[in-house]
Amino acid sequence: MKVTDAGFFRSLVRLADDGWRMGWHERNGGNLSFRLTEEELRSAEEELRPGAWVPLGFSVPELAGAAFAVTGTGRYFRDAAVKPEDTFGLIGLDGRGENYRILWGFAHGGRPTSELPTHLLTHAVKASLPGEPRRVVYHAHPSNIIALTFVLPLSDEVFTRELWEMFPECPLVFPEGVGVAPWMVPGGRAIAEATGDLMKRYNIVVWAHHGVFCAGEDPDAAFGLMHTVEKSAEILMKVLAVPGGKKQTVAPEQLRRLSEECGVDLPERFLRDKPGQNP
Ligand SMILES: [Zn+2]
Repeated sequence: MKVTDAGFFRSLVRLADDGWRMGWHERNGGNLSFRLTEEELRSAEEELRPGAWVPLGFSVPELAGAAFAVTGTGRYFRDAAVKPEDTFGLIGLDGRGENYRILWGFAHGGRPTSELPTHLLTHAVKASLPGEPRRVVYHAHPSNIIALTFVLPLSDEVFTRELWEMFPECPLVFPEGVGVAPWMVPGGRAIAEATGDLMKRYNIVVWAHHGVFCAGEDPDAAFGLMHTVEKSAEILMKVLAVPGGKKQTVAPEQLRRLSEECGVDLPERFLRDKPGQNP
């Protein structure tokens, strides 16, 4: 089967194109990765042309031998639907998780996203956790959540609680909360480690003054996470823009009732009273 006809690939292209249409991917902004099953890799076998091994510069033994679809550095999400073999490539890792090689795509001399360290460290963390594997890692630049990082304290507790209050789907879609990383230089090992650390607890990590990383079970789930957190941020930005801000809001007790009746576990550390805040 042609890679571009494979179901997993078509759903990745749709995610990239949807993200572009949402306005989250100016120029070459954003990146995306997807861990293939062995069966998915086999289905694309006839088109694979393995290139030379390239050192990752770090080690992810948890991902030894794994294969990923990844967006290319400098490539535009806007082009994902029209020239997917330029925007995307498939890569495979060696048996030690120290080198990768291009298997397909990245036409015209492309290579994987500069955020590959964050993607792979996040995949390594998610692979070690129980439950349905989160095979998609997605990074975008949604305006409202970035705007919030200029006006709210940069803490997991504040971001989670404020975003949860905006509409009931938020605590249901991301009950584990939202992690917040301070501003850091993108593309490096330090931001990858900070993100990987937060991904042990969360599926959404906000990068202050930059954007969002999220991890979903499949492309639809990853898009849904990004969409939900950005919509919540948009509502909050509108509320904060009104003189006087909030006049009333959802109380911790109401969130506890939601937790009980919908059967989701909302950690108590996000449900404390907010002393001195209005409301
Ligand atoms: Zn970015």
